Amino acid sequence: MALFERDHDIYRDRDALREDYQPEELVGRDEELQTFQAALQPVINGEQPNNVFLYGKTGVGKTAATRFLLGHLREDAAQYDDIELRVVFLNCDGLTSSYQIATNLVNQLRSESNQISTTGYPLASVYEMLWSELENEGGTVLIVLDEIDHVNDDSILYQLPRARANGKVDDVKIGLIGISNDFSFRDDLSPKVKSSLCEQEIHFPAYNATNLRDILQQRAQVAFHEGVLSSEVIPLCAAYGAKDAGDARQSIDLLMKAGDLARDQDTDTVSDEHVNRGRRALERGRIKEGIHGLTEHGHLVLYAVLTLDQEDETPIRSRDVRPRYTRFAELANRDPLVPRRMRDHLSELAMLGIISVTERNEGRRGGTYREYALDMDVGLILSAMQETVELVGVHESVGDRFDGETFDGETFDGESPNGGSDGEATLDEF
Ligand code: ADP
Ligand code: MG
Repeated sequence: MALFERDHDIYRDRDALREDYQPEELVGRDEELQTFQAALQPVINGEQPNNVFLYGKTGVGKTAATRFLLGHLREDAAQYDDIELRVVFLNCDGLTSSYQIATNLVNQLRSESNQISTTGYPLASVYEMLWSELENEGGTVLIVLDEIDHVNDDSILYQLPRARANGKVDDVKIGLIGISNDFSFRDDLSPKVKSSLCEQEIHFPAYNATNLRDILQQRAQVAFHEGVLSSEVIPLCAAYGAKDAGDARQSIDLLMKAGDLARDQDTDTVSDEHVNRGRRALERGRIKEGIHGLTEHGHLVLYAVLTLDQEDETPIRSRDVRPRYTRFAELANRDPLVPRRMRDHLSELAMLGIISVTERNEGRRGGTYREYALDMDVGLILSAMQETVELVGVHESVGDRFDGETFDGETFDGESPNGGSDGEATLDEF
C-alpha cells in the first residue's frame, strides 16, 4: 500500500486560498477600481501617468487590486506599438529607508550580472544610478511601492514624482503608486510629498460581513469541490474577518484552516465545528506570537493578572496587581520592576488585546484610575506561557489545568479534561 496517497475529496485547488494567489476578478471593489483605472488611463494615451496613493487597513484588497489592474494594463498596453510599459513592484516590508528602496529599485532595473551592493554608496549616487536606469528604460515606468509605511523617511517619495520636473530624467515617464496599510502614514507626510504623491488618493474601506461573504463565495468556488462546505461555513468565516478588522485575509485563512481540519479528519464536508476549531487554532497562533514577543516581566505581569482573574479579583487596579506580580518575580528570581514600569507592561498587554482596560472616575474628587481584566481565554494564554509557569510554579488558581508540570494544550477552550481533580502540582507557596 502506498504511504502517500492523493486526497482530493475536499479541495479542488487549495492553493487558491494561499496568500500569493491572485483572484481573476475582485468582488465589490468597482468604485475603487474605476478611480484607479482612470488614474492609469494616461499610460495607454501615451501621457504622463498620475501618481496614485492607496490606503486602507490590511486585508482590504489594496495589493490584489493593484496587481489586477496592472496585469490588465500590461496586457492592453501591449496592443499599442508605441507604448513601452515597464512595471516595477517592490514590497517595502523589511526596508526602512529611501536608501534601501532606491538600491532595490536600481537592482530590479539592472540585469542579474550588474547588481549593486545595498550598502556603501552615498544616497546621492544611488539616486544618480536610479535616474540613469530609468532613463535607459525609457517609455513609461510604473513603480509600485507596496507597504510604504515601513519606510521611515520620505525622500524617495519626493524624488521619484519630481524627477522629471527637476531635470533628473528626460525621456522616461515615471508613475509612482504608493500603498499604505497605515492611515496615519498619509497624514504624517510632509505637504510637498503629499501634493506630489497623492495626485490621486484612493481609500479602501474595511469590508463588512456581507462583502466578505461574497469574496469567500468566489474563492470557495475555485478552492473547494461543490457541496463540500456546509451552509454555515462561509457566514462564520465572514463574521470572523468582519469582527475586528474587516480583513479578507483573516477570513480566507480561517476558511483554509477549517478545510485542513476537515481533510485531516478524512471527512468530505467542512462543518461549522471545523470553523470553530480553526478559529481557536488561529487565535492561539496570534496570541502565542504576541505573548512570545513580550519580555520576561511582561510575562510575569500577565501571569499575575491571569491568576487574579481566576480568583474573580478582576477588574483590578494596578496597585492591587502589584503584590502578586512582586511575589511571582521573586519566585522567578527576578528583581521586581518599579510600579510605573509594571504599569507600562499592563498597557502593553492591553495594546495587544490580551487584557482590557477601563477608565474609572474616583468620584467627586475627580481623579481617574484604570482597571484591568483578562480579555482572552485563560487556556490559550497559559499554553503560550509555559516557560513562565515553569519558572514561577503552577499557581493554585490554575492548578486544575495542569497535569503535573505540563499544561495540557488541548484544553485551550477552557475545559479541562482532567475535570479539576488534579491538584497535586500546585505549589505549596500559594
Ligand atoms: P491588502 O493589500 O489591502 O492588505 P490584499 O490585497 O492582500 O490586502 O487582500 C487580502 C486577501 O484577500 C488576498 O488574498 C486577496 O486576494 C483577497 N481579497 C481582498 N479583496 C478582495 C476582493 N475584493 N475580491 C477577491 N479577493 C479579495
Ligand atoms: Mg498588501
